[in-house]
Amino acid sequence: MNINLFQTPIDYLKGVGPNRADLLKKELGIYTFQDLVNLFPNRYLDRTQFYKIDQLQRTSADVQIIGKLTNIKTVAQKRGKRLVANFQDNSGKMELVWFKGHKWIRENLKLNVAYVVFGKTNWFNGVFSMPHPEMELLTEYEKNLRPVMQPVYPSTEKLIARGLSNRVVNSMMQHLFLETKNSIAETLPNNILESLKLLAKKEALLNIHFPQNQQLLSRAQYRLKFEELFYIQLQLIRKNLIHKAKIKGYPFTKIGNHFNAFFKDHLPFELTQAQKRVIKEIRTDLGSNAQMNRLLQGDVGSGKTIVALMSILIALDNGFQTCLMAPTEILSVQHYNGLNKLCKHLNISIYLLTGSTKTLDRRIIHEKLENGEIDLLIGTHALLEDKVKFKNLGLAIIDEQHRFGVAQRSKLWHKNTFPPHVLVMTATPIPRTLAMSIYGDLDISIIDELPPGRKIIKTVHRFDSNRLRVFKFIKDEISKGRQVYIVYPLIQESEVLDYKDLMDGYESISREFQKPDYQISIVHGKMKSQDKEFEMNRFIKGETQIMVATTVVEVGVNVPNASVMIIESAERFGLAQLHQLRGRVGRGADQSYCILMTSHKLSENARTRLETMVKTSDGFEIAEVDLKLRGPGDIMGTQQSGVLNLKIADIIKDHEILKIARSYAFETLKNDPSLSLAENLPVKSTYIQLTKYKNIWNYIS
Ligand code: ADP
Ligand code: MG
Repeated sequence: MNINLFQTPIDYLKGVGPNRADLLKKELGIYTFQDLVNLFPNRYLDRTQFYKIDQLQRTSADVQIIGKLTNIKTVAQKRGKRLVANFQDNSGKMELVWFKGHKWIRENLKLNVAYVVFGKTNWFNGVFSMPHPEMELLTEYEKNLRPVMQPVYPSTEKLIARGLSNRVVNSMMQHLFLETKNSIAETLPNNILESLKLLAKKEALLNIHFPQNQQLLSRAQYRLKFEELFYIQLQLIRKNLIHKAKIKGYPFTKIGNHFNAFFKDHLPFELTQAQKRVIKEIRTDLGSNAQMNRLLQGDVGSGKTIVALMSILIALDNGFQTCLMAPTEILSVQHYNGLNKLCKHLNISIYLLTGSTKTLDRRIIHEKLENGEIDLLIGTHALLEDKVKFKNLGLAIIDEQHRFGVAQRSKLWHKNTFPPHVLVMTATPIPRTLAMSIYGDLDISIIDELPPGRKIIKTVHRFDSNRLRVFKFIKDEISKGRQVYIVYPLIQESEVLDYKDLMDGYESISREFQKPDYQISIVHGKMKSQDKEFEMNRFIKGETQIMVATTVVEVGVNVPNASVMIIESAERFGLAQLHQLRGRVGRGADQSYCILMTSHKLSENARTRLETMVKTSDGFEIAEVDLKLRGPGDIMGTQQSGVLNLKIADIIKDHEILKIARSYAFETLKNDPSLSLAENLPVKSTYIQLTKYKNIWNYIS
C-alpha cells in the first residue's frame, strides 16, 4: 500500500471539511484515508428484491415495495403532528409516516403514481407502517444506476444529527476510491492468495464497499477477515518466537531431591494422564534456555494445584525461589495450608504474605526473602509491591488469571534480573480459539480430564415458590453429615440491596435451621477479614453445617464435605460465575447437588444460562455458550478486549477462518522467521505498518 497516501489526514479528502473531519475522528476514530478504507459496513441492503405488502414480516429488515399513495393526512399526537399516507399495491395496504418535514412532503409527493419505497417497517394493530421511507418515483428508479447491494456503515446518533448520513459516508467512500484505488497494494503473499483462492486486496476492498453481487461480496468478506486474523496471529506468534529466542530464562536442568522424594513417596494420589502431560510440558519449558510463559487451563477441580507444586519443586531443586499469587486472601490462605500439608515431609520454607500480614511479620518476610531463606512465598497482590524483593526468584505462578491483568503479569517479570518463568493458571476455561487470540503470546497447556471417581454434580433449577421443598432437601443432606453453601449475588451497583437480600435470607434460614441442631456461618464483603476467616474456618472444620455467603466463596475454597450448593437469584449470575460456584461442591466422595433458585421472571438470556448449567458440567462447553451470549470483549473485561475490537472478523462466528489464518501465519514464520524472502515482502511491509500505526497491536507489555 502506498503508505503516505493512505496516511493522509481525512481532512484532505474531497467532501470532508474540518467539521466533518472532526466528527469522523471523534465519533468513529477515523483520522486518515486508511482508517476510512477500513470502515467496513455492518450490513448490506439488498435492493434486488421487491416485496408485496402481504408478504411483509414483522422483522427489522429493510424492505423495498412498489405501490401508490392514495391519500395523505395530518394526525395530531401528544407532541406536534405526524403525517400519514395510505400506501397500497395489488396485495394490500399499509401506511407511510413522517414526523417532520411535513410541508415539503405534502407539496412534492404525488397521489396515484407508482413509487418505490424503501425502509424498515413497524407493525401495530394489524397495520404495517414505514416511518420516513426513502422514496423514488418508479420511472426515476428505473432510470438510475445503483449498487446492487447497498452498504450500511457504522454510525452514531451524533453523526446522523449532524448530517453525516450513510449516504454521505457512501459518497466519501466513492471519492476515496477515485483517489486511491490505483495505490492499493497487495498485503498477502502470492502463495497464500493462490492456495486459498483469495480475492486480491484491491478487489476485496472494492467489493466490500461497492459489492457487485452476493458472491463477490462474500469472497471479499472472507479475504478481509482472513487478513485481519492472519496479522493478529502473525503478531502473536512472532512475539512468542522472539520472546523465546531473546528472553533468556534460567534453565532448570536438574530434577532433584525435592521433586523425586515427593513424586516417589508423598504424592497423595495417582496423577491423571492430563496432569502428567501438562507437567511434562512444563518440565520441558523449564529445562530449556528460554523463559517459560505458559497458561495452564483446567476446569474447576481438575487438579491444577498439584501441577503448580511440582513445578515449584523443580525450581527449588535448581536452587531458586518461587512465589504463588492468588486473587483473594482466603484463597491464598487455603493454598498456604494446602501446600504446607502436601510438603510436610519435604524441607521447604513456605511463607504467607497478604494485605493483613502485620508490619513486623512483613519486615521479617522481606528480609528472609532477600536472604534467600524463603523457598516459596504465597500471597495476594501484596507480592507485587516494590518492597518485595527476592534473592533469586525463578518461578512465579499466578492462580486464577482472570482476576489479574496483563500489567500484573509483567510486574512479576521484573522481580529478577532475568524474568522468572511464569505459569498462569485459570479456572475459567476459555475456548481455545479465544485463548489463541488473546493469549497467543503464551503457550497453552490444558488439563482436560477430571480426577477419577468424581461424580457429576446433579444440577437443577427451582423457582422460589419451591423453597420449602429445597429446605427439606437441605435438612436431609445435613442429616447425612454433609455441609451446604447458600450463595447470594453481590453486584456492585446495587450493593445495598444485595446486602439486604443476604441479610433477609440469612434471617429466614436462621429461623428454619435453628440452633442447637444447626450452626450457620455467614461471610460477606462488609466483614473484616479476620471475621471472615473465622467464619470460613468454622465451616472448613465442620463446626457449622451451612455457609451463607456472597460470592466471596467463588474462588478456590476447598471443603470436600460440602455437597450442596444453593445459588439464590441465580438468574443474576453470569455463566462463568455459576460454573465457578458449582465447582465448590463435588470435591469429596459424596454425590453433590447444585440448586439454582430463581424467580419466575426470566429473560431469554437467563433461561439459556440456567439450561446450560443444568445440561452440562463441562467448563469448556459452558465457556462456549458464555462467549456466544456475552461476546468476547465482555468476558475478558476491558483490559483485554482491545485486541478483540476486530474490524471485520468475529472471533466466534469466524473461528474456522481464525484456525486457518493461524496455521498460515505459523507456516509463514516457520519458513521465513524474519520475513525477508521476496515473496513475503507484502507481509513484512504490512506488518511493520501495523505495528507502527496501530497501538492495539501492542497490547501486551
Ligand atoms: P483446581 O484445578 O480447581 O485448582 P485442585 O488442585 O484444588 O483443583 O484439586 C481439586 C481436588 O482434587 C483437590 O482436593 C485435590 O487434592 C484433588 N485431586 C487433584 N488431582 C487429583 C488426582 N489425580 N486424583 C485424585 N484427586 C486429585
Ligand atoms: Mg485452584
